[in-house]
Amino acid sequence: MSKPKGWKQLPIGGLIIEAGNAEKYVTGGWRSFYPVHDQEKCSNCLQCWIFCPDSAIKVKDGKIREIDMKHCKGCGICAKECPPKIKAITMVEEMKG
Ligand code: SF4
Ligand code: SF4
Repeated sequence: MSKPKGWKQLPIGGLIIEAGNAEKYVTGGWRSFYPVHDQEKCSNCLQCWIFCPDSAIKVKDGKIREIDMKHCKGCGICAKECPPKIKAITMVEEMKG
């Protein structure tokens, strides 16, 4: 059995030691609700894309293409920010989907 580290050998917490490392954290496992996007209703205003804290909404050629479920943590901000007259995103409970 290896000898436990002393406090001076422990890494300092709260530091981001590598830029862009959030990609490596699969926050999708936190989710209890998931967003369902309705392409028919969507106006592609990109409001949801701007507000998603996990950059989970994928856009190509100015249009919403998919939601990256590996990183979507189910916060519901996208559904909240989608204009009320459009409401193209609905949050669904994981076990009921
Ligand atoms: S639920 Fe939250 S994390 Fe998931 S796509 Fe919407 S805003 Fe992004
Ligand atoms: S906010 Fe709503 S209407 Fe705008 S791009 Fe997102 S899903 Fe589509």
